[in-house]
Order: sequence, then C-alpha cells, then structure tokens
Amino acid sequence: MFIPFNKPYLPLSSMKTIMASALSGTIAGNGRFTKKCHRFFEDRFGFGKVLLTTSCTDALEMASLLCRIEPGDEVILPSFTFMSTANPFLLRGANLVFADTLPDVPNIDPEEIEKLVTPRSKVIVVVHYGGFACDMDRIMEIAQRHHLWVVEDAAHAVDSYYRGKPLGSIGNFGAFSFHETKNIISGEGGLLIINDENQRQRAEIIWEKGTNRASFYRGEIDKYGWVDLGSSYLPSDTIAAFLWTQLNHFNRIQNRRKKIWWLYYELLRPLEDQGYLKCPVIPDYATVNGNLFYFTVSSLEVRDCLLKHLKNNGIQAVFHYLPLHSSAFFKNKYTGPDLPNTNRFSNCIIRLPFFYSLRNRQMKFVVNKINDFFLTR
Ligand SMILES: *Cc1c(COP(=O)(O)O)cnc(C)c1O
Repeated sequence: MFIPFNKPYLPLSSMKTIMASALSGTIAGNGRFTKKCHRFFEDRFGFGKVLLTTSCTDALEMASLLCRIEPGDEVILPSFTFMSTANPFLLRGANLVFADTLPDVPNIDPEEIEKLVTPRSKVIVVVHYGGFACDMDRIMEIAQRHHLWVVEDAAHAVDSYYRGKPLGSIGNFGAFSFHETKNIISGEGGLLIINDENQRQRAEIIWEKGTNRASFYRGEIDKYGWVDLGSSYLPSDTIAAFLWTQLNHFNRIQNRRKKIWWLYYELLRPLEDQGYLKCPVIPDYATVNGNLFYFTVSSLEVRDCLLKHLKNNGIQAVFHYLPLHSSAFFKNKYTGPDLPNTNRFSNCIIRLPFFYSLRNRQMKFVVNKINDFFLTR
C-alpha cells in the first residue's frame, strides 16, 4: 500500500469549464469566470470585496502595497509559517519582527505581539494554522490601540470561523490560497479579501498594474491610465474557470475533508490518552475546516523515527514548518529572542496524508502503523 501525502481533487467536469472559457475567446483576467468566483465568495461569506490573484503570496503582496509598507517599517508575524507570509513585506523593505506561538496551539500568541510593538510597528500578520482561528478579538484590540494594520494569512483557512465570523473577514485584509495542496484549488491561485471599504478602489488599481481599468470597464470614467503602483496580480480567466468547478463542489469537498479530520482525531485519541502523542487543541473560538491533520510527539528524535517508520510502510507523512527566524535565508539577520514554542512545534509536529479521496480504510491503516510504532517501541 502506498498512501501519498496529497492528491489534488480534479473532477473531469473541470475540463468542461476550461473548454467553455477557451472557446469564449476571452481568456485574459477579470472575465466571466473571475466575476462568478468573486460573487461566490462575496455571497457565501459576506466578504465586502474580493479579488482573485495568481497566488496567496501575490494577495499578500497586494496587502503589503495597500498598507503602504516603507523601508524600516516593522511587521510583526509568526516565525512558524511559510515564507510567503514574510516575503511580500520584506520585498517592500519592512523589518520582520517574529513573535512566538501559543504554547498549546501553533498560532501567534497575542501576548507576544503586545511585547513586540514599537513606534515603528505598522502591521500585524497572523496565520490561522491548519485553518484554526487565531485569537482575533485580542489581536484586533492590540492593533486598534496601537493603530496597526492587520493582515490575515488565511491560506489554510477557507470556510473556517472565529466566533462565527469567517476567517479572512476580520483584519483589514485576508488572503486565501488555491494552491494544489489546499482545500479548494486551481493549481496556483489565491484571493485577496478587502475589508476596508476605503481600500477597495486602490486594491483594484494595484491588481491591474496600477491602472484604473476596472472603473473604466464599469463606465465610471471615460479613459483609463496609470494612476498608482501596481503589478499583474490577476489570473487568466481560464484559471478562474477551473476554480469555478471547485466552487460548485464546495460543500462536497468540505464535508468530506471535515469528516476525514474528525475520523483521524477519533482514531488517534486513544494514543493521546495513553500519553504517546497530542492531538490538536481546538480553541473554543475556532472551527475545524479540514485543511490538514497534525499531531505532536514528544521530541525531534521520536518525530524522525515515526516519519521513517511510516515511510517504510508506504505512508507519506511530513513535518511542518522550518521556522523562518532560523531559515538559511534569515538566521544571520535575526536578532530577536529565542522562540521556544515555535521551535518545539517545528520539531514535534507530524502531518498525515490528507486529501478528498482518502479512504477510511487508508486512515485506519495509517493509524494502525502509528499504533505499532508506539506499542512496540
Ligand atoms: C500555502 C501557503 C501560502 C502560499 O500560498 P500560495 O498560494 O502558494 O502563494 C502562504 N501562507 C501559508 C501559511 C501557506 O500555507
């Protein structure tokens, strides 16, 4: 038996929408399917304004431009994340200030944010790890008190909530990813959520190379031109057509992924009760969106042995993340304090195979092998 870590959900009907897009003759950005996808997110989650992007990384780059990051501005963010949380701000010249995670949840610790605020602070970037909400009331309160922007890296967090509010809708900006490893996919792709009404127009301009082309096509102005900084952040409408099929299957995908999550959780709880591992802690303000399944073991050594054991049994499990502050690129630039919780999660997290077509018997096989590992050690 071989069980891969990920297998993208690729229904044959995607081909039909891609064909329809190609045959329509308009395949550049901001076409018919792009508008359908925008409407889906605005209707389903009540987002005021969204823009499809070529990736979540690009959506975050737009957020960095919208926050008007200038050299020397400080951006507070977790170290326990993907480099795409950091790059967009570093590209604008920001100084990265890494905050540790909570002790029991691999999300940024609001108390650590508070300690790191200085007069140069400009933005707080949060990551809802595995789709589990950060403590947003506390984070928004800190941001408001110090006049900081809040950007939600919601790459994992489509269809997840904080006290009933959709993630991505709480900060000034939110960013989803449709990379093939996420819940809803388009190969590469993303979405920027613009929650401030007075940032909507500028977001559209940045999206289309610094032009007011979107206003022009709505007939609001009679010619368009270069009015601000920008880049080409909009995907081809053919990508949006692919995404549209995923959105039509949104409930089906999400129902299955959430079931997979809860089945892993149930199957692993006995090992948690026996003290071999720790299942994810779900804060009372957070929900499960079936993005990924992780658990933690007691040490780096146990983690590596267990990953090897699973690999020998044909199971592709992985660790997560190499902290940004100790990465090859950043470690020589890092002058902040030690981040013990970040290091512990980085050493001890294991992620299990997780994808729509994963069968219950495959999950049972995975958990049996984990059982064998601990019970025969
Ligand atoms: C996947 C991911 C990204 C990047 O998403 P892309 O769409 O690949 O650019 C950013 N942040 C986090 C936390 C991610 O997991």
